[in-house]
Amino acid sequence: MNMQKNLKPVEARLRRSLFSERMELNRHYMKSLDERRLMASYFMEAGLNSNIHLDSFPKHYGGWEEPDWQVRGAFAGHYMSACAYLHHFEKDGEMKRRGDLMVDYLALCQKENEHNWAGSIPPVYLERIARDKWVWAPQYMIHKTFMGLIDMYRYANNEKALSIADAWADWFVSWTGRFDSERLAKLADWESGGLMESWADLYAITGDEKYKTLASRYYRKNLFDPLISGEDALTHRHANTSIPEAHGCARAYETTGEEKYRKAVEAFWHFGMETRAAWATGGQNNREAWVSDLTENLSASTQEFCTVYNSVRLADYLLCWTGEAKYADYIERLLYNGYLAQQNRETAQYCYFLPMAGGSKKKWEDKYNTFYCCIGTMVQAQSSYGDKIAYQNKDTVVISQYIPFGADISVGGGVAAVSMDFCEAGYEIAVGAPNLEFTLRLRLPGWSKGFGLFIDGEPQGIPAKDGWIDIARVWGGKTAVRFVPEYRMAPVSLDARDSRHAFCYGPVLMAGLSDGEHSLYGSAEKVADSIDTGKMAFADPRGGGTYIQNKGNSFKLVPLYKITDESYQIYFPCIE
Ligand SMILES: [Zn+2]
Repeated sequence: MNMQKNLKPVEARLRRSLFSERMELNRHYMKSLDERRLMASYFMEAGLNSNIHLDSFPKHYGGWEEPDWQVRGAFAGHYMSACAYLHHFEKDGEMKRRGDLMVDYLALCQKENEHNWAGSIPPVYLERIARDKWVWAPQYMIHKTFMGLIDMYRYANNEKALSIADAWADWFVSWTGRFDSERLAKLADWESGGLMESWADLYAITGDEKYKTLASRYYRKNLFDPLISGEDALTHRHANTSIPEAHGCARAYETTGEEKYRKAVEAFWHFGMETRAAWATGGQNNREAWVSDLTENLSASTQEFCTVYNSVRLADYLLCWTGEAKYADYIERLLYNGYLAQQNRETAQYCYFLPMAGGSKKKWEDKYNTFYCCIGTMVQAQSSYGDKIAYQNKDTVVISQYIPFGADISVGGGVAAVSMDFCEAGYEIAVGAPNLEFTLRLRLPGWSKGFGLFIDGEPQGIPAKDGWIDIARVWGGKTAVRFVPEYRMAPVSLDARDSRHAFCYGPVLMAGLSDGEHSLYGSAEKVADSIDTGKMAFADPRGGGTYIQNKGNSFKLVPLYKITDESYQIYFPCIE
């Protein structure tokens, strides 16, 4: 089968679903924030923290936004990115206005800093790490601001944002130019976050060679060279330090074509996601570190949300390059069991970790007084479904995620109007096109063994291959395609040497309401078969809930993403 390589995302607008509800919840939260307060650290850094310069100096928000935290101000970058996505995908003028205003403030700050520095922290933090003196991840934090600026240019047409980033980048060209290759390698070990990705983005946008040079200076040789040579250099390392660095390699490969960068990404995926055991959610890590043995790491500090968001982004790079369905399967699990599960469905609060230990509760962080890294990634995550659903190339439209959407897609020499909604037991994809010849490729999820496919009500016998179902035809007028995957309850082993299993219904991890780790009797397969799924309407995943009835024990079983304040158990010892 043609794997449909070199895909690009379709820009999709969400239609009503669980996902659009969560996006709206997040947008409502974003609108409750005062962008001037989010800029407080930038004003202070530019010497503008006085009402001589501003009508009134905005007060910092709490937690990591306070002036005595070295990571202050990073949230503003996430916020600008989320504003840009909501403008781009959802045509939200209010969010563009907010993002534009923040760019204006950054321009003001940069002007005060002699048209150079535009950060929320001082350059002296970088001078300190160059002398091997500890500062808390300044490059990681600075990247967030660059990312916000680049996204405001790319998705919200803000030219000023690009000028600010371009002028500020010169500081980095000059600073990194002072160091030899050995010193640069050490600097890259000081958590550089996604700066390499920003340099590669700016190279793609401007074509300026200075960015190609900067990207190469930020390549983390001490991590990626061992990975490429076949060594697991990840176990026990901080997970969220490394994933954004792999984004840098991915984007550098796309923009420079250098094979070394692609090899780095593939080796990273191999050791991080393919050969490493993962939680039944699809996520990894405990206490923020990559772990090798899950059985020793069930705790209340598992699956940091930033790692979920960043792993989805890495999988998205690989999906576009290869067209392989396994990356879309991976993304799907993390959308349900990370994006949705780590956002409070009632309040829009977020949980930094998603606890895997039996009897845990999600710990919801304060919306205005914490501002840890994960709230930043959460506001981006909930704003960015629009480019994760469908992909295309010249003559194919690929449906990757079953999230209701609508889009006008240039394909087959014309424009097709494609939309998707839930329908009974599955999904209905409506295609409107003026006699255009192209292939509609549907993902058969890895959890679904069979499927039903109907075109205008007529059953189709098209087989699936390598996780894809291809419908190649001339599309004229309006056509209704109904796709019905086979949902089923399946056990997911914690480890081959351990009796503990989780239960997934399709991609959705089910949590038992429980105050500790309780056992079940019988094989995991028999337990799964005994669970009544008759009332779980997962075509519309807002539905769903059932019970495990087992030798006198009864646990209510609900999707993990629906849990708010209840204590729960994911892994059940299954005693045969
Ligand atoms: Zn985080």
